[in-house]
Amino acid sequence: MTENQYDTIIIGSGPAGLTAAIYTSRAKLNTLVIGGYVSGGQLMITSEVENFPGFPDGVMGPELMMNMRKQAEKMGANILDMDVDKVDLSKDIKEIFVGDKIFTAPSIIIATGASAMWLGLDSEKKFMGRGVSGCATCDGAFFRDKTIAVVGGGDSALEEATFLTRFASKVYLIHRKSEFRASKVMQERVLSNPKISVLFNKRVNEIIGDKKVSSVKLSDTIDNSESTLELEGVFIAIGHRPNTDFLKGSINIDEKGYIIPKQNSDVKTDIEGVFVAGDVFDHRYRQAITAAGSGCKAAIEVEKYLEEKV
Ligand code: NDP
Repeated sequence: MTENQYDTIIIGSGPAGLTAAIYTSRAKLNTLVIGGYVSGGQLMITSEVENFPGFPDGVMGPELMMNMRKQAEKMGANILDMDVDKVDLSKDIKEIFVGDKIFTAPSIIIATGASAMWLGLDSEKKFMGRGVSGCATCDGAFFRDKTIAVVGGGDSALEEATFLTRFASKVYLIHRKSEFRASKVMQERVLSNPKISVLFNKRVNEIIGDKKVSSVKLSDTIDNSESTLELEGVFIAIGHRPNTDFLKGSINIDEKGYIIPKQNSDVKTDIEGVFVAGDVFDHRYRQAITAAGSGCKAAIEVEKYLEEKV
């Protein structure tokens, strides 16, 4: 084995990738995690995580990720904080290209996650974690009895708006068009919920506040009129983008870019020796704990695959 050859290479260093690394390293497989320049995944931009089991008082997202990383390294995983440029998964020994280096392994776990799409406003970045959120399940409970808004018109936005009425006293649903893209059943649920007010044909132009969010500036997409809405939280739910650009042409991905797992299988793909974990294929649950769970499954499949190959 040369220094660039491993038993398994895990691409991605969020909860899915690092959990997989803990398992494969503990199983004494020579493991390389290629974690990306921005390592740690989406939890690195979250504040407090209250729903990861084992932390009754909550844990900060970055702290949770640093601990997962330490645990993976303690078990023996090597972690490289660089981005993968391209892959060749066509042969028995897969090749992963990073800058001028090629890393090889007979088994690969792809756990590159998905990135939430954002409006692209400077003020949105400024108030991230201080009133702006991309995850209702993660942050909803911080907005008990508060007025908030959800931006978007797809199933995610409508589902989040409905979910958030458990906590918030009032939820505005802000959508740029005059009709939703979401399913009829979700629309009916939203329109009949007395805590939700729908604002059609409105665009969020700015998020305003001092230390925390206090209002948003809106413009009407039909007559361009401007208005201000007072609130304490804004949930952006305008879709996610799986991080699969570097895989194009080498594995089955759907029209939105999510990896399609092998039929009737959990974390296997159509390519022997290539497994998948976390939000890069799971667009339904998108939770740290479900990502970690699938990372564990992928690692166990890698162990079995390598055992059977020998
Ligand atoms: P979608 O791509 O379906 O919807 C995104 C929404 O955000 C659209 O209404 C779009 O507006 C709006 N949007 C996009 N960009 C901007 C922007 N820059 N400013 C303002 N609004 C914007 O994403 P979802 O995450 O909602 O859903 C993804 C997939 O997951 C879908 O297939 C959905 O059906 C599925 N899903 C299913 C659920 C369920 O069955 N329970 C729950 C959640 C998701 P416009 O309409 O104008 O393009």
